[in-house]
Amino acid sequence: MVPKSQQHDEIATNLFFGGMLREEIGGFHPGKFFAGLLRKTEDAGAIICAKTVVKDISEMSKGRKSVITSKGNLAAEKVIVATNAYTGTKHPFSKFLRRRLVPVQSCIIVTEALGRQRSKN
Ligand SMILES: Cc1cc2nc3c(=O)[nH]c(=O)nc-3n(C[C@H](O)[C@H](O)[C@H](O)COP(=O)(O)OP(=O)(O)OC[C@H]3O[C@@H](n4cnc5c(N)ncnc54)[C@H](O)[C@@H]3O)c2cc1C
Repeated sequence: MVPKSQQHDEIATNLFFGGMLREEIGGFHPGKFFAGLLRKTEDAGAIICAKTVVKDISEMSKGRKSVITSKGNLAAEKVIVATNAYTGTKHPFSKFLRRRLVPVQSCIIVTEALGRQRSKN
């Protein structure tokens, strides 16, 4: 734990009341990770439908599901739902899931480019 009196050794701000320093994390670039995952997924032949909301998933017949989206419907044998914390309550299928999620708060700070002077390696 870093007390307020020593936080200037770590970060050039008076905004906080001390904090926690974790040496083992911080080298991960989420944007690059996402770009890499996207490339691998497309290379594997998956079709990515950006900005497409799934509104409902219904059983058409045994082993056949209909996925109703904002851009049309599609049929599938198996559907994986991975909506995570973005599972809302607006659509029928997400109402069912939302009730089964336990929210855990998380936050992230995004800054302007800090430069070597202000950021520690
Ligand atoms: C601030 C913050 C910092 C984090 N830092 C780290 C870290 O340093 N290291 C680490 O390992 N993990 C970190 N995590 C956790 C990590 O980001 C998540 O565990 C991971 O992104 C979960 O991936 P996912 O694919 O399950 O869900 P997500 O990446 O959340 O994807 C869910 C997707 O579902 C979409 N969706 C929701 N509803 C619908 C719908 N009806 N129709 C269509 N699409 C829908 C959403 O738009 C979203 O794109 C952090 C999380 C947060 C919030």
